Amino acid sequence: MASTEIIPGIQVVRGKFADEFGFIASYLIVDENEVLVIDPGTAGDPGDRLEKAIKDLGLEPKNDLVGILCTHGHPDHAAGAGRLKKSVGAPIMIHKDDAELLRTPADFLNKRLVMDRAERFSMKFDKGPLRVNYRGIDADELISHGQKISVGETVLRVIHTGGHSAGHCAFFDVTRKALFSGDEVNNFPNDPRKFYVDKTGSIIAKLTALEALSKLGADHLFPAHDSPHIFADARLQFEAVRDGVIHLQDTVLTLLSARGDADLEQLVFDIKQSRSVPITLSYDALLTTTLHVTLISLSEAGLVRNLGNGVWTTVE
Ligand SMILES: [Zn+2]
Repeated sequence: MASTEIIPGIQVVRGKFADEFGFIASYLIVDENEVLVIDPGTAGDPGDRLEKAIKDLGLEPKNDLVGILCTHGHPDHAAGAGRLKKSVGAPIMIHKDDAELLRTPADFLNKRLVMDRAERFSMKFDKGPLRVNYRGIDADELISHGQKISVGETVLRVIHTGGHSAGHCAFFDVTRKALFSGDEVNNFPNDPRKFYVDKTGSIIAKLTALEALSKLGADHLFPAHDSPHIFADARLQFEAVRDGVIHLQDTVLTLLSARGDADLEQLVFDIKQSRSVPITLSYDALLTTTLHVTLISLSEAGLVRNLGNGVWTTVE
């Protein structure tokens, strides 16, 4: 079987282990001869196994796949959408603020990350899950907060979170009390990926979303990276991500105040030196971008100030 049942009606198709990305997870909701894909993954992995997974369940992808639903438009989760749609014809659904990434994948490197030219060059030729070597495609349906999406008898509620990226959504299966949390709440203990945001994201939106999601009463948490959480430990994940975000903010304030003032590059250097925040191994841009967005949120809270030319200071 190309997929594994996690709880009745919900299957996971796990990608290959990809270094610090862990396992990229695609989910299938199967109900009454209908199936919905949540996050098709990259085109190659696990995207290339989704059709087989659907067939293995005794369903016909061309007739029974009712939709390809994306939590957000990042390449590691949405790149496979175009290929799957071309093959089986099911509609692609995503929030409008991330639909542009599907249409113009290179925007991920050009508009979503803070990078210098050398980093952009190296990411362009990277073979990892964040590569953008696929063609753009238009979404068929733009989803919005509060909307309900049906597959068989199952109803998913769309919750726009907007922290990890401007168009990020989570999906709540009310009957199964299962939350598909995408990258807004993912699953890396003591790892920085759980608090990454892109340039369109927001730390305040992320904290607000964590609060709202933690109150849904979810028994199960199905993140876009790594293993699903069944029952008891789901709640701990919200706390782990929130604590990670707050710790990052505190660390930025401490380091900035020790220097007096600093630019983004100096703060990235200090964070790496301090070792108090886990850092990415391969993509510097993810940490740089997250720090950039964090500084903006701290300035909105009146805790830091931009002195111009990219130099920041704390507000005493
Ligand atoms: Zn993402």
